[in-house]
Amino acid sequence: MKLENKVAIITGAKRGIGYAIAARFISEGARVVLADINDATSEAQSLSESPGRAVSIKTDVSNDADVRALIHQTVELFGRIDILVNNAGIEFAKTVVTTTESEWDQLMAVNLKGVFLCSRAAIPVMQQQKTGVIINIASELGLVGEAGVAAYCASKGGVVMLSKALAIDHGPQGIRVNCLCPGPVTTQLLEDVFASSDDPAAMREAFESQTVLKRLGRPEEIAAAAVFLASDDSSFMAGADLVVDGGWTTR
Ligand code: NAD
Repeated sequence: MKLENKVAIITGAKRGIGYAIAARFISEGARVVLADINDATSEAQSLSESPGRAVSIKTDVSNDADVRALIHQTVELFGRIDILVNNAGIEFAKTVVTTTESEWDQLMAVNLKGVFLCSRAAIPVMQQQKTGVIINIASELGLVGEAGVAAYCASKGGVVMLSKALAIDHGPQGIRVNCLCPGPVTTQLLEDVFASSDDPAAMREAFESQTVLKRLGRPEEIAAAAVFLASDDSSFMAGADLVVDGGWTTR
């Protein structure tokens, strides 16, 4: 097992990629906090082989008081934080012209400020331990542009660069920060983006054909890469973008 007794916080873990990461981390021996804006108690219970191995701490990552409480409660429960996965994210399909100011602010608050707040709160704990791993879930759309998702692209580009800055500042303290960039993955987030487009079937087909593997990814395929970044298998990686996108960004 690659994460034996490690303590991991995973934001946005009630469903989708975050849930798959939580499930895989537990199977690798970790103890996991599911930090989601929606209560994830039932998910934590169904993931827990032994009681307490997975717990839910309801957290809005865009709210600093929530985030501080998350870090405090995790340390109270488990005594340490080995891994922080900044996964919570939202997306909508709009151009800059059709995006309202409040939509922009909300998306940035979750996707970018959330990474800032969670990292800011967790890093002092990791500094004390002299060790820690932060994995920021960005996107292939943080590396290349795409039509009709302007705010999302901007937020994920910010996550890619924030990850590098974090890696530089905190690598010398024993904290490895890396970015994981998934391509299109079958989750509710992507289904909602498809559903909000003028022609959902055409958008799905376009997304599938834009990968070189000609299909969407599965959450478990992202979770496998997260285990790699969380474990000592990636012990010499810092400030990297690990791209798991079916080849979306290849051309
Ligand atoms: P999802 O919508 O299925 O799950 C996201 C989870 O985050 C939900 O459980 C939701 O309740 C939670 N969440 C939303 N706002 C929150 C907040 N303010 N605080 C805490 N939790 C919050 O999405 P997903 O597809 O699993 O996406 C997970 C991450 O992966 C996101 O950062 C997303 O941008 C990124 N990503 C997804 C894809 C994809 O195609 N699905 C591709 C690239 C990157």
